[in-house]
Amino acid sequence: MEAPTQPFARHATVAVDIAGVQVGGGAPIVVQSMTNTDTADIAATVAQVRALAEAGSELVRMTVNTDEAAAAVAPIRDALAAGGCEVPLIGDFHYNGHKLLREHPDCAQALAKFRINPGNVGRGSKRDTQFAELIELACRHDKPVRIGVNWGSLDQELLARLMDANSALPEPQSAQQVMREALVRSSIDSAARAVELGLASERIILSAKVSTVQDLIAVYTELAARTRHPLHLGLTEAGMGSKGIVASSAALAVLLQQGIGDTIRISLTPEPGGDRRREVIVAQELLQTMGLRSFAPLVTACPGCGRTTSTYFQALAQSIQQHLRERMPAWRRSHVGVERMAVAVMGCVVNGPGESKYANIGISLPGTGERPVAPVYEDGVKTVTLKGEHIAEEFQQLVEQYVERSYPRRAHP
Ligand code: SF4
Repeated sequence: MEAPTQPFARHATVAVDIAGVQVGGGAPIVVQSMTNTDTADIAATVAQVRALAEAGSELVRMTVNTDEAAAAVAPIRDALAAGGCEVPLIGDFHYNGHKLLREHPDCAQALAKFRINPGNVGRGSKRDTQFAELIELACRHDKPVRIGVNWGSLDQELLARLMDANSALPEPQSAQQVMREALVRSSIDSAARAVELGLASERIILSAKVSTVQDLIAVYTELAARTRHPLHLGLTEAGMGSKGIVASSAALAVLLQQGIGDTIRISLTPEPGGDRRREVIVAQELLQTMGLRSFAPLVTACPGCGRTTSTYFQALAQSIQQHLRERMPAWRRSHVGVERMAVAVMGCVVNGPGESKYANIGISLPGTGERPVAPVYEDGVKTVTLKGEHIAEEFQQLVEQYVERSYPRRAHP
C-alpha cells in the first residue's frame, strides 16, 4: 500500500502555531475535539482530555464558563503534563470570557488558544469593549484566537443591518442567502477588527458553523474565497449516531475535497453512556478514507451476505478493528509507518482472496458450506491457512508479527 497522497490543491492559508501544533499553511489537517465534563471537575476533565489525546485528538477544547472552571484550567494543565500528556488545551469562552481571563491569568497562561464567539462576547454597547478586551488579553498572553461564529448565536445587529440593506435592493436575496453572508461577514469583520486591535494576522483561525450541510458548504466556500486565515471546519449540532456522522462527513468531505479546511471537529451528540472518543475516531476515519492523512490501520471488511450466515465473520472484523485501535498508541511510538497498514477481513471466497491480496495482511473466512479454513495473505502472497476454534487469536498474532517484521522500530520509542 502506498502512502496517501493529497489529491488536490489546498486553499492557501497562513500558518497558525498552537503550542507547537501548526494549523494552516499547508500543514496536515489537524483533528480536534471538545470535552463534555464539568471543567471545574479537575479529575474528570483530566481523564477525558487524556483519553481524547490518546485516541489522537491533537487539540482539545474545554468550556471555561465560570470562576470555578477558570480556576481549574491551570491544575488540569499541570496534571496532564505530570502524566506526560502535552496536548494543547483550548478555552471556549462565551459572555464572560473577558472577565474570566482578566481575573484568572493562570488560566489564560495555561491555555494554548482562546475561542471567542463574536455573537456573544457581550450585548449592546458592551460588545465592542468586551471583544477588545478579549483580544487585548490574547495579545498580552501571546495566544492565538479562533473567532468562531455560530449561526445559533449570530450577531443579531449585523444580521438586521444586512436584512435591511437587502430588502432595499431591487432584487433582494433570500433570507437564507443573507444569513450565510452575515456568517461570513461576522467572521471576516471580527478578524479584521482583532488585527486593528493589535493581534497578529497569523494568530487568527476562523470558523462559521451552521447545522445544515448545504449552508455549511456554501458558507465555507465563500469564506475560503475571502480570507487567508486557516479555517476550522465542523457541522455544529450534527446530531447523534449515524445521522451525526453522515451529516458531518457529507459536509466536510465536499469542503475537504476542494482543499478547504485546516482543522476539523466532528460535533457528535454522545449517546447515553457513549464514548466521547467517538468524535476523534470519526474525524480520523474521515481524513484517512479520503486519503488525506493516516492515523491507524483500517480494516477492509466486506458487508457479508447470504454466503456468510453466521455472525462469526462480523465478530472477527469488529475484534480485529478494535485490536488495531487498542494497539495503535503503542505501535505509533514504536514502529514507523504502521498507521498506513491495510488489513482485510473478508467473508468468503468470492472476493476474499482478491481483497486480502491487495491488503498488507488479509484473511478470507469460510462462507456457509465452504471448507472451514481461512487462508491468510501477507503482501499479496498466501502464507498460512488457519482453521479450528482460534482463528481470531491466531490472526491477531499474525498481525502482530507482520507489524514487527514490516515496520521499522523507532530509534527512541
Ligand atoms: S466476499 Fe463473500 S460474503 Fe462477503 S459480500 Fe462478497 S460474496 Fe458475500
